[in-house]
Amino acid sequence: MMHPDTRLQYVSQDIGNGVFAVKKIPKGTITAVKDACDQIFTDHEFSALPELIQESMNNHIYRDHCGNLVLSWDYAKYLNHSCCANTMLTCYNFEIAVHDILPGDEITAEYGLLNVPEPYDLFCRCPDCRGRLSLDDIDRYAEKWDALILGALLDIKKHPQPLWPLLNLNTACRLDDVLVNPSVYSSVRNLKWRENRKY
Ligand SMILES: [Zn+2]
Repeated sequence: MMHPDTRLQYVSQDIGNGVFAVKKIPKGTITAVKDACDQIFTDHEFSALPELIQESMNNHIYRDHCGNLVLSWDYAKYLNHSCCANTMLTCYNFEIAVHDILPGDEITAEYGLLNVPEPYDLFCRCPDCRGRLSLDDIDRYAEKWDALILGALLDIKKHPQPLWPLLNLNTACRLDDVLVNPSVYSSVRNLKWRENRKY
């Protein structure tokens, strides 16, 4: 579920819709939570859906670290990618603002964390656009992304968190542990779906 101080807005014919801030959202704010209403599919379940539905979902679905396909039930699924994303997916089942987001700013996410099935070219407006989304982006950029996320997590108690009630108790406890001892932070490397990994 998206943060309430956001709205869905048309961007362009090429991009379609995006999610924009209607109020300032400070760095350290939880901007979206994977919640109990999101839909989760195995590959088998997804492939059993009518093709028309699969095609419609394909641009809005992501793969979690267990290999499941996840579809957000609200407009969180319209978050667009930026190589300078102002939010990042974490190992704590939420996206967090890694920079201050001002009213009117588009809220962007890092698709490199979403286990895309195939590499594809990127055309974001970021000055540091890396030009192509690769399957090993998590491994290549984890250190940089972890630094951004950890810096934001350490601010998490400084700001109102309207999505906090959607976190489960285990996540809240893990966050408290990180605040006390940042060395227990869980790296985004753990978001990568590694097909042969034992769980
Ligand atoms: Zn880019």
